[in-house]
Amino acid sequence: MSKLILILGDQLSPAIASLRQWQPGDRVLLAEVQAEASYVGHHQHKIVLIFSAMRHFAALLQQQGMQVEYIDYRQRIGSLYEAVAMTLQHQPQLQSVVVTAAAEFRLAQDIQSWPSRLAKPVTVLDDDRFIASTELFNRWAQGRSQYRMEYFYREMRRYTGLLMNGTEPAGGKWNYDLENRKPCPADLAVPTPVAIDPDDITQAVINVVRSEFPNNIGDAGNFALAVTGKDARAAFLDFVEHQLPLFGQYQDAMVLDQPFLFHSICSMYLNIGLLDARWMCQKVEQAYQAGLVPLNAAEGYIRQLIGWREYVRGLYWLLMPDYKNRNFFDAHRALPGYYWHGNTKMRCMQQAIGHTIKYAYSHHIHRLMITGNFALLAGLSVAEVTDWYLAVYADAFEWVELPNTLGMALFADGGVLASKPYAASGNYIQRMSNYCSSCYYKVKETTSELACPFNALYWDFLARNTAKLSNNARLQLAYQQWHRKDDTQQTAIRTKAAELLIHLEQL
Ligand code: SF4
Repeated sequence: MSKLILILGDQLSPAIASLRQWQPGDRVLLAEVQAEASYVGHHQHKIVLIFSAMRHFAALLQQQGMQVEYIDYRQRIGSLYEAVAMTLQHQPQLQSVVVTAAAEFRLAQDIQSWPSRLAKPVTVLDDDRFIASTELFNRWAQGRSQYRMEYFYREMRRYTGLLMNGTEPAGGKWNYDLENRKPCPADLAVPTPVAIDPDDITQAVINVVRSEFPNNIGDAGNFALAVTGKDARAAFLDFVEHQLPLFGQYQDAMVLDQPFLFHSICSMYLNIGLLDARWMCQKVEQAYQAGLVPLNAAEGYIRQLIGWREYVRGLYWLLMPDYKNRNFFDAHRALPGYYWHGNTKMRCMQQAIGHTIKYAYSHHIHRLMITGNFALLAGLSVAEVTDWYLAVYADAFEWVELPNTLGMALFADGGVLASKPYAASGNYIQRMSNYCSSCYYKVKETTSELACPFNALYWDFLARNTAKLSNNARLQLAYQQWHRKDDTQQTAIRTKAAELLIHLEQL
């Protein structure tokens, strides 16, 4: 019996489980639907990336002899369910539906209701593009009071054999993070990442996005991302050759007007299936074994793929749907407008948000220690902040965005994911960037008129959350520093913080 194979917009992998079930007579369906394009106000680049990659993927499958149904956005189909129901109605020979498991909870829940609504069998297959199945992760998590990534990562190194000498890690250590926290000299030559000129298909999508999503953040007109597996692989290999050797030591660094530094800019390709994590790890390991990249860079990159990425996906499925409602600090302050337009006197925020608006990308330290840190210190609404991250980054899907934002950046899960809040004053930003020397604010000052806002907000964050945080072993030094300040200093800092919070929009 012929079946309908549904491919979601983040499932653009020729070897995905559902396509391995293909047989002559089956139809493959890809659909640009309104619900998926608008559940948050996605960055224009994110919509162009996914729609154009879907159109290229459909063409690839047709070249391979598959019959493909493609629903484009202008057909104004509301949801994936409607797209499937309409296709089954027009193609009554299709007796069942096959789909690889959706990566996001809301869609997976919806698909569970399809068999009764469609009155046809719907088979949901495991997404084995992830290295750790949800069963494997749940077994690891069972009985643990804390889910620390480092221990999961070591299991994954043993499981995959990557960077292993028998049972021992290559080089004798699991983790080279201590070598990977260097500030980057501002005059260091930075290789330019691969940019792709839009072809006719991408240009048509750019036109659709410009007319259908004119008020979404970003400008589809400067889109230059890869939209095929072939181009994404070429971009990644270019990264391995040119940026990876220095990725390790400068992965936490920030330099004025350098949005990419030595980062790969490939997470958006990986998260929609244009790249395969196992293949990427092999290429990095081969470059290390050939002596082309140092161990701290290879290990740091592989840890992102088989450690962090698999870990947040496992946690997401373990803890949803309750996880989304967590708000440990009861943070509800409205997101300031500069998160959407970038017009702020804070140079670090202007840079991080400016890169985001222009490229639908900023690297992990911008996300964690600039925009995320500011949101944490200012007590911004967890729901608004997580929606912002989900909307503005081309690589953002809820399974990866929510643990990273709610758990890592905002500590809104109370420490399920991170062992302490990643709260930092301007001192950290000054150490890791050259932003402060051209900022309107003065990073060494805390209570003066032009004092760096991160400073008073940092101390105020600790002070107002004493009951929740002062027993945290990793914050003892910070609380000792706070308690060494006399009453007059503490009052001045908290008064300054209160003024900043009132005038948040004007910073
Ligand atoms: Fe950011 Fe403060 Fe430095 Fe300005 S002085 S760039 S606000 S950390």
